[in-house]
Amino acid sequence: MPHYTFALKEKKEVARETMAFVFEYGNQEFSFRPGQFVDVTLENPKYKDDQGITRAFSIASSPLDNYLMVATRLTDSAMKKSLAELELGRLVHVDGPLGSFKLHTDKSVPAVMLTGGIGITPFRSIVKDATEQNSEQKLLLIYSNRAPEDAAFVADLEEWRAYNANFNFVTRWTKEDGRIDEKFLKQHIKNLAAPIYYVAGPPGMVAGTTQLLIEIGVKEDNIRFEEFAGY
Ligand SMILES: Cc1cc2nc3c(=O)[nH]c(=O)nc-3n(C[C@H](O)[C@H](O)[C@H](O)COP(=O)(O)OP(=O)(O)OC[C@H]3O[C@@H](n4cnc5c(N)ncnc54)[C@H](O)[C@@H]3O)c2cc1C
Repeated sequence: MPHYTFALKEKKEVARETMAFVFEYGNQEFSFRPGQFVDVTLENPKYKDDQGITRAFSIASSPLDNYLMVATRLTDSAMKKSLAELELGRLVHVDGPLGSFKLHTDKSVPAVMLTGGIGITPFRSIVKDATEQNSEQKLLLIYSNRAPEDAAFVADLEEWRAYNANFNFVTRWTKEDGRIDEKFLKQHIKNLAAPIYYVAGPPGMVAGTTQLLIEIGVKEDNIRFEEFAGY
């Protein structure tokens, strides 16, 4: 598997307890397809526990960016604490790109992306890329969070929606509105059988959303998912 060493260029809070990390490619060539992920490994981390020093992160930047961005929900694990405190300029090991989560190629078939919280990362890359490529594919992103302060990259999504007439997104605040249900989906998707559905996020969220889609009659073949195993 290709191996890279990238320097940390920037870190920023993108939602409550959620941080994005930007790494410079330097003189290395790194290519990937939107939706893929990488394994990030810290060398000599500041904190140590028995959970290891490597985590998988979906790529949140697009292929046209000249940097790699990942984002994560901060937890008390030694790896995440070390990553959050990593000084700018420090090197990390990156293996990848990995995975086959990507949009279908038939652009006449719309895509509906469903996610919550940190599961937004692969979709940020997919939507940014589609906008940069002037894609004709109809994309709808349904982004659920407990409250607005938990939603990452909303300003980016608003900007891309302004440029890309084929992209729309809706937010849902589960603290007030409850979980996504059939009524909500029917309000936003005219023909539930037409799109291919993409779900990404922690395993519980992926399982619940996939179950709901199947219950409302979406064919299993039309559902693709990326589980953030480890949450
Ligand atoms: C394809 C993929 C994409 C992901 N993308 C993101 C992302 O964009 N942002 C993000 O925040 N998180 C993502 N994750 C989850 C991430 O890798 C971490 O597992 C998660 O962030 C929890 O880490 P932690 O240090 O907070 O928790 P910890 O409590 O330390 O738990 C992490 C531990 O879970 C176990 N674990 C990790 N991966 C797996 C696995 N695949 N199968 C079984 N056990 C495992 C290991 O013991 C690991 O040390 C992704 C995971 C996968 C598999």
